Formats: sequence, C-alpha cells, structure tokens
Amino acid sequence: MAPRVDIAALRYCYPETGVAALDEVELALDGGLCVVAGPSGGGKSTLLRLLNGLVPHMYGGHIRGRARVDGHDVLRTTTRRLATSVGFVFQDAERQAVHATVERDIAFGLENIGVPATLMRGRVDDILHRLDLHHLRTRTITTLSGGERQRVAVAGALVLEPRLLVLDEPFAQLDARSAQALLDICLRLRDGGTTVVVSEHRLDELLPVADSLVAVA
Ligand code: ADP
Ligand code: MG
Repeated sequence: MAPRVDIAALRYCYPETGVAALDEVELALDGGLCVVAGPSGGGKSTLLRLLNGLVPHMYGGHIRGRARVDGHDVLRTTTRRLATSVGFVFQDAERQAVHATVERDIAFGLENIGVPATLMRGRVDDILHRLDLHHLRTRTITTLSGGERQRVAVAGALVLEPRLLVLDEPFAQLDARSAQALLDICLRLRDGGTTVVVSEHRLDELLPVADSLVAVA
C-alpha cells in the first residue's frame, strides 16, 4: 500500500512571491509521530497546510510535484474531502473555534460533512471521553484555559476519525503540564494507528518520542 503521506519533488510558491516556501520536499510517512522542525519562516506551516490541501486550494499560488495523502492526490482533491482524512489543529486554536460551547464546536465538523443530528451526540460524547474532556462538554470556549482549548481543538479535529492528525506548533503557548497532557494525547493516538504530524521549533521534549523528523530551513 502507498504510504499515508507521499510527497515528492514538491515545490510551492505563495501568490505574488518569487521565492519558494517549499522546495524539493520529499516526505513519506506511514504512521508514527513526525516532528516538523525549523526556524520561523522556514516553511513548517506551509508544509502542514499542504497536508490538508489549504495549500494550494485556499492560498492559491504555484505548485508542482507530487503530494498524496491517505490515497488522495492533494492537488486534485477538495479540502472538504481531505478534511475527512486529515484533522488539523491550527497554531492559533482560539481562532479555530466556530461555536460558543465545546460540544457545539466539536459537532461542527460533523455538521459540515452532513452527519445526521441523531448520530452527532454519540460521536461528540465518544471523542470527549477518549480525550478525557467530558467535564468540559457544556463549557463556553472563551472560559477555557489555553491547554483546554488546544485539547478541544484536537477533539474537533478527531471527531471525523481522520487517519492523519496535523498540529501546527501546538505547544508554543502551553505551560509544561498542558504540553505534557497534549503530548500524551498525541502519543496515544499514534499508538492507536493515527499518523501524527507536529511542527515545533523547540525539540528537547519531542525528539525522544518522535518516530521521524523533517527539518525545514
Ligand atoms: P513557519 O511556519 O516555519 O514559520 P511558514 O510556512 O509560515 O513558516 O512560512 C514559510 C515562508 O512562506 C515564509 O517566507 C513566509 O513569509 C511565507 N508565507 C507564509 N504564509 C504566507 C502567505 N499567506 N502569503 C505569502 N507568503 C507566505
Ligand atoms: Mg508556522
């Protein structure tokens, strides 16, 4: 079977920029926890956006090369379709929230793909239990701590049961305890067969638990 992430000879430029944000990227992943590391401006977010098709479908620009994710050709697959294969947690988890309460916000992804309301409650409950977040179910998102918001964003990404989970610098704003809680979730998902891709600029804590490392520059 083809690897879950299969990127080759990939070059990408944002619109109206002459410089390639991604150049000659090669990446093959089949499970495990992959850390994308490198300096600010190195292309971490851009590479992650390619995995769910925001690059190039939302950002535009020029792209060439091969990018396949979970069997889909990213360049020829809508972001809506890719969203069922790739869960994405944005760097700014606060901006990710769409609805006021935790349960409504997590249900949003399901509404988007047309899951019947009768099934929705069970799916949301299930993911909240799996991530030990059930106590937050009725909370208003704006009252959550940064770490809680991150984990709720992960729940929102996972409710579609994607085979890939992508998190853009998820630890940047977290204290040590919240970071550990989030890392534990990532490792549990990895052990359960989800491919987890995390970008990060500090490597001390992640490197020992990572299965692969991609360096951008
Ligand atoms: P990182 O996440 O590692 O900080 P980025 O992927 O955000 O790196 O940025 C890689 C390069 O692409 C940088 O040169 C940055 O200025 C450029 N870039 C990022 N986002 C955009 C955008 N929306 N439009 C144009 N250029 C962008
Ligand atoms: Mg970034």
